[in-house]
Amino acid sequence: MVGTQHHHGPHEPLRIDLHTHSTASDGTDTPAQVMAMAIAAGLDVVALSDHDTERGWAEASEAAREMGIVLVRAMEITTSDLAPTPDAKPICVHLLSYLHDPGNAALAGILAETHQQRDLRLKQMADRLAEDFPIEWEDVLEQAEGKTAGRPHLADALIKKGVFANRDQAFATVLAPSSRYYVRYESPRTSEMISVVRAAGGVPVLAHPGAKARGGQLTDERIAAICEAGLLGLEVNHREHDAATRARLHALAKSLGLLETGSSDYHGRGKENRLGENTTSQEVYEQIVAQGFLPVVGG
Ligand code: AMP
Ligand code: FE
Ligand code: FE
Ligand code: ZN
Repeated sequence: MVGTQHHHGPHEPLRIDLHTHSTASDGTDTPAQVMAMAIAAGLDVVALSDHDTERGWAEASEAAREMGIVLVRAMEITTSDLAPTPDAKPICVHLLSYLHDPGNAALAGILAETHQQRDLRLKQMADRLAEDFPIEWEDVLEQAEGKTAGRPHLADALIKKGVFANRDQAFATVLAPSSRYYVRYESPRTSEMISVVRAAGGVPVLAHPGAKARGGQLTDERIAAICEAGLLGLEVNHREHDAATRARLHALAKSLGLLETGSSDYHGRGKENRLGENTTSQEVYEQIVAQGFLPVVGG
């Protein structure tokens, strides 16, 4: 391999970004475009981690091999943890899974269930929004077709009708959990999902565990409890974590013996997050690869 696209010498550490999204879920770049953008950003290794789907893996693998970047096949799984108080709603927890076997029947069954819940909920939110805004179900379907359906597609339908200028505006108002248009959906318990991911040969890492505005945050005690199910890592360095949160999670990862990752959570034009804005060390990356069922591809 010629490798002229690499911006560093042979002895410099690899640049590794372990969390991105494509049009298979709520990103705006196709899987092949994510690979091209990752190379342009100077990355050596990138994970494609669409919400609740492996649909983008084949295209990304082919592109990674052709373009010369290492792809880590991954997924960000929607789960929920116990409500912090009896009268509160369960907390939405995103669980990254690296290099699991996509043929695992238990995992596939749970994902199919989640997609049913997501589709049902998208329709319910679209119907509520249609009462007050100039959108119809067909407009939403057009945005979500062939993808893991989520609120970003409601935002895109509203943007297309000129109601909002961007996704952020929609999320700050009509799509917020406090909004009258918001509808919850059921997802598997985080600790159970960790066991399923491990059984499928995946490496489970809690995504942005310190991010706010997701219906409450996990406490250190809850993370420690969840860890017992076989968690292997924490995403410490992420745009939605301030310096104090990163310090807290770094200490927690250390005390629980968990791997510590950093990632962009790139969504193309759907979010401000830029590829490579947070990265993972080569040492941690190698430990993830060593524990995963699937090999990395390309490079
Ligand atoms: P859902 O799971 O359908 O409730 O939607 C959550 C998704 O919305 C997450 O995957 C986020 O990536 C996305 N999201 C959350 N806030 C924003 C925002 N301000 N702009 C764009 N996307 C967002
Ligand atoms: Fe997303
Ligand atoms: Fe997430
Ligand atoms: Zn994400």
